[in-house]
Amino acid sequence: MGQLEGKVAIITGAGSGMGRAMAVRFGKEGAKVVAVDYAGESAEETCGLVRGPGCEAVAVRGDISDPADIDAAMQAAIGGFGRLDILCNNAGIIDMAGLMDTDWDYWDRVLRINLKGVAMFSQKAVPEMLKQGKGSIVNTASIAGLVGGAGGLSYTASKHGVVGITKSMAIELSPQGIRVNAICPGAVTTGMTTDFQGVPGFVEGNAIPRWGTADEIANMALFLASDESSFITGAAYPVDGGWVAK
Ligand code: NAD
Repeated sequence: MGQLEGKVAIITGAGSGMGRAMAVRFGKEGAKVVAVDYAGESAEETCGLVRGPGCEAVAVRGDISDPADIDAAMQAAIGGFGRLDILCNNAGIIDMAGLMDTDWDYWDRVLRINLKGVAMFSQKAVPEMLKQGKGSIVNTASIAGLVGGAGGLSYTASKHGVVGITKSMAIELSPQGIRVNAICPGAVTTGMTTDFQGVPGFVEGNAIPRWGTADEIANMALFLASDESSFITGAAYPVDGGWVAK
């Protein structure tokens, strides 16, 4: 029996990278998956990878910063599968600009998607989890949510924000049986990092000096989503080859 047998999971940003790896892994562990992405065709492709005997998945084309699209994803979970147990707030966008290069319209976009989107989706998901008196929210933050660096000003702000709201939501929702945790990936080979993967300087200083894989992040997401982590809430775990240990 899989670790997520009978559970229903919404995974955002499921059309690519870590979100796709989470969807496939969760499906193998018995979850029914709602794959949300504003690249709807990619989300549909992910569902094709998840589906199989006893494995169900539905794709929703949607923007996590649009409340109507969040409602559509919730409807897919509740209308289609009857419940919601797990929310992986994983969708995000990158910004490499430092202070002096920051474009403020793009700053707003990064904060709206990476931070406000996580909070808004969680607010809409919690009432459904409360019906079971139980739930797990897993937010994909970043090592940029734990430390600063030159560049990526809006991204760093958004990911520090994700770690912060993970703690606050965990404390608020703990009495109702809902756990909230964050994953802080280091450099991982996904669509987001395609332009940087051949560039020296990203991973050589890691204790484990290589790029991580989306599957290695999905392993942590599975642990935090499942009852294996039943005594863990409000935590932010680096999965980074030892990058923040330096
Ligand atoms: P990715 O670009 O491969 O996948 C992200 C997916 O999110 C894409 O399919 C994209 O279409 C979707 N998306 C973006 N904005 C959206 C929105 N508003 N609504 C719905 N879908 C949206 O990237 P990834 O590396 O798999 O990123 C997943 C998460 O991991 C992100 O939050 C990212 O910030 C974080 N992260 C990535 C790395 C890395 O090295 N790749 C490191 C740390 C954190």
